[in-house]
Amino acid sequence: MTLRPTDSSTLLIDGKLVPGSGGTFEVFDPSTEELLGKAADATAADMDAAIEAARRAFDDTDWSRDHAFRARCLRQLRDALRGHIEELREITIAEVGAPRFLTSAAHLEGPVDDLLFFADLAENYSWKQDLGNAAPMGIPTHRYLLKEATGVVGAITPWNFPHQINFAKIGPALAAGNTVVLKPAPDTPWCAALVGKILAEETDFPPGTLNIVTSSDHLLGAQLTEDPRVDLISFTGSTATGRSVMRSAADTLKKVFLELGGKSAFLVLDDADLRSACSMAAFTVSTHAGQGCAITTRLVVPRDKYDEAVAATAKTMRTLRPGDPRDPGTVCGPLISERQRARVESYLRLAVEEGGTIVVGGGRPAEHARGFFVEPTLISGLDNRSRTAQEEIFGPVLVVIPHDGDDDAVRIANDSPYGLSGAVYGTDPARIARVVAGVRTGTLGVNGGIWYAADAPFGGYKQSGIGREMGVAGFEEYLETKLVAEPAS
Ligand code: NAD
Repeated sequence: MTLRPTDSSTLLIDGKLVPGSGGTFEVFDPSTEELLGKAADATAADMDAAIEAARRAFDDTDWSRDHAFRARCLRQLRDALRGHIEELREITIAEVGAPRFLTSAAHLEGPVDDLLFFADLAENYSWKQDLGNAAPMGIPTHRYLLKEATGVVGAITPWNFPHQINFAKIGPALAAGNTVVLKPAPDTPWCAALVGKILAEETDFPPGTLNIVTSSDHLLGAQLTEDPRVDLISFTGSTATGRSVMRSAADTLKKVFLELGGKSAFLVLDDADLRSACSMAAFTVSTHAGQGCAITTRLVVPRDKYDEAVAATAKTMRTLRPGDPRDPGTVCGPLISERQRARVESYLRLAVEEGGTIVVGGGRPAEHARGFFVEPTLISGLDNRSRTAQEEIFGPVLVVIPHDGDDDAVRIANDSPYGLSGAVYGTDPARIARVVAGVRTGTLGVNGGIWYAADAPFGGYKQSGIGREMGVAGFEEYLETKLVAEPAS
């Protein structure tokens, strides 16, 4: 099987690979602006059919109760994906503009292998949990819990790490016994569609258990949120869209699980190795052109070392020129689209209007006439209250902010509507522990610690989201709890 679509990709509905009723839409390479090919363009009628298929597969089959079968299907899918990994890698680089060096752990092999964690959970999870005996109202009673799938899951995903986010949803949702309708972002339809093709042609997933609906129309996501046949929405995307997902899911009182935006702080305490911390901050924000929700975009440094910190950050950032994502040495690839680049550039203008100084970058790299590139950019001289420091830019843009000690650093980190991630650098464990306890955020790396793993729950405080993805906590987001009481024997 050749994976790369020759004409266009297909939808996966009820076990069949079908064209979109709306024809096709174009897929571009963000690093060259060239047309790669076409993707199936689903309409509301296709989405309706996908929801119906998922509903039937949940209601009329044994899928949700056959834990061992689901584990087998997920392992099969992981193996089949592994068998196509090099083709998937090239398509991911082309469609997402993902730097090659990031494709293994972060974009592809890592997330593909994470399916095994969820397969194991399907098999080993305590589906029945004994609560023991009690005598409610004086009546001796034995109680137990049954953990059960929620039903039909609508999974709506963005373009920045399409495989990671798609698998972080379909892995636990399917392992837990749900059926799924996945609606990927219009910018990266192929990543999802090709997984659908592999699943349909090389695994035993029953029809309707996973449906994949690519479309140029964002509103197919809204359709999922409104449909009464869908029980749960698992959404990753911007906070603005997250709000509208929550609003439109309210009429049918769906469970809503949201992974949203961030403006995470990188805190450097005054006893840290300033240069290596700042160098790491520059590297992090430049990676994948800053298109990561959990990337640290506010560098908070001791006031009396501000100039030294700016110089150290700038030194590393100057070495991270935007480059061809196919080159294994590239850290900063393109942004996904012209629209995203225009958005990032509008923030660069805003930073200057707000009184900031662009120390490094600030524009398009002269060496790339084509592709949606923006230079890694360092901005100094702005207050944390500035819009540039408060709003998510989703590009390789770092703002350096001074702090007046540990408590002030924590205050600045928390002075944000978001609370997704963060980093702390220092040497005194007691001070680090105090800072860790103070920051209101869902994940925090200390001195370079990596928090991402299949068994580690990830998610946001405040307006960065509701719920947790990955880990047992992420799996349990997709479960209902049934309490059963019987006379004690
Ligand atoms: P987006 O919110 O524009 O779109 C996300 C998805 O929602 C897409 O599939 C889109 O088609 C769909 N959508 C759009 N309007 C909708 C509506 N009214 N109802 C339902 N679905 C709708 O986000 P994006 O631009 O694709 O991705 C970038 C954003 O995603 C950033 O804000 C980033 O921080 C966030 N993100 C968060 C995480 C996380 O885990 N917290 C991970 C990656 C990206």
